Amino acid sequence: MKIEQYSMGIGDRFGKQGVAQLGALRRAEERGVVIVPVWNKSFREHSLIGTKPEDVRVEADAAVAKAGWTHPHYVDADHVGMRTVDAFVASSDFFTLDVADFIGRTAPDGAIERFVRDMAPLKGSLRIPGVDGAFEVNDALLERVGRQYLYAVGEAGRTYRHVAAAKGAEAFVTEVSVDEAAEPQPPVELFFILGAIARERIPARTIAPKFSGKFLKGVDYVGDLRTFEREFDADVSVARHAAEVFGLPRELKISVHTGSDKFSLYPIMHRVLGRHAGAGLHLKTAGTTWLEEVVGVALSGAAGLRIVKRIYAEALARIDELCRPYTTVVEIDRATLPAPATVEAWSAEELAARVRHDPSCADFNAGMRQLMHVAFKVAAEMGAEFSSALDAAAERAGPCVADNLFQRHIAPLFLGG
Ligand SMILES: [Zn+2]
Repeated sequence: MKIEQYSMGIGDRFGKQGVAQLGALRRAEERGVVIVPVWNKSFREHSLIGTKPEDVRVEADAAVAKAGWTHPHYVDADHVGMRTVDAFVASSDFFTLDVADFIGRTAPDGAIERFVRDMAPLKGSLRIPGVDGAFEVNDALLERVGRQYLYAVGEAGRTYRHVAAAKGAEAFVTEVSVDEAAEPQPPVELFFILGAIARERIPARTIAPKFSGKFLKGVDYVGDLRTFEREFDADVSVARHAAEVFGLPRELKISVHTGSDKFSLYPIMHRVLGRHAGAGLHLKTAGTTWLEEVVGVALSGAAGLRIVKRIYAEALARIDELCRPYTTVVEIDRATLPAPATVEAWSAEELAARVRHDPSCADFNAGMRQLMHVAFKVAAEMGAEFSSALDAAAERAGPCVADNLFQRHIAPLFLGG
């Protein structure tokens, strides 16, 4: 199954913002850019919130019908492997096959030898159109990629075939993600990982590489912007060339899992895509919508503000537990976190200014925003109480969600400002 040139992963933890999110995509469409939505919710998010993959399908289809969205939409089994995929098979039509757990687990020697042999015609000086210079491809390089990735790609292949057997190969879009690897993949390594993916006969439409720098949840990119630009640009070229050389789907595109809100990267990505005519992109956001819900509920009235303050106080008390599943992607400077008594005295606007992602605002508090990012578990535990607060705040939260997605994400990335 094909996917359109531009797509965007939208996370909707409580399943109430689909129409607002489509509103943001509609505004892009009015400006001439079609970005198709992919609802993504991982196994971890489902378990923390107590939802099931079929709930996302029901919500997505209902939102599409209600909003009158006429382009395709997808539901992503986000970061699945053999252990977790079964619950997603019926309701998803996009599968992000995450092999990070298996990177570095070594395939049998014979398998590595066969990989090196199959890739041998590419030995020597490899040029990738669009990437400066040439890469020296020899047995040592191929063996290294084989040792590092062959087993993991084989695991992706097993998961892919498992889904294809159940649904039919034409019924879903496949992404392979190596973004949770310990180290970024240099272009030539990504190229041969794609070679391994093609050998496994996985018709990957998107590939999520790991980039240098830190992609922390809910806050901006931490790293060198020029390095990112070079890596992203090279990866776009690598995807195109690998598709041609290895016979992967022609529209194979790069997927950037932003952990939401990598604002400083969007103008760069826009510029790079402009240099590669026809190149596509999948951008995955998730927590950014939940944080706008927090802002919307806080601004919705006294009862909403009280609930948000309670969520914060409880999250602060349980900070170790809440951050534990996110050790590599949440970095909170605890000294910056206000005491609950301080927060108690704040007005709704004062609280919103700390959490809303406006780095130019002097009151913005990145630590507090990251803590609220992982605090959706606390809100989920409140059950109907939080859910009704969200319903009561719908008129306030909806525009927060839509404006955030459009103005802070879609416009700078897909429209160039
Ligand atoms: Zn990811």
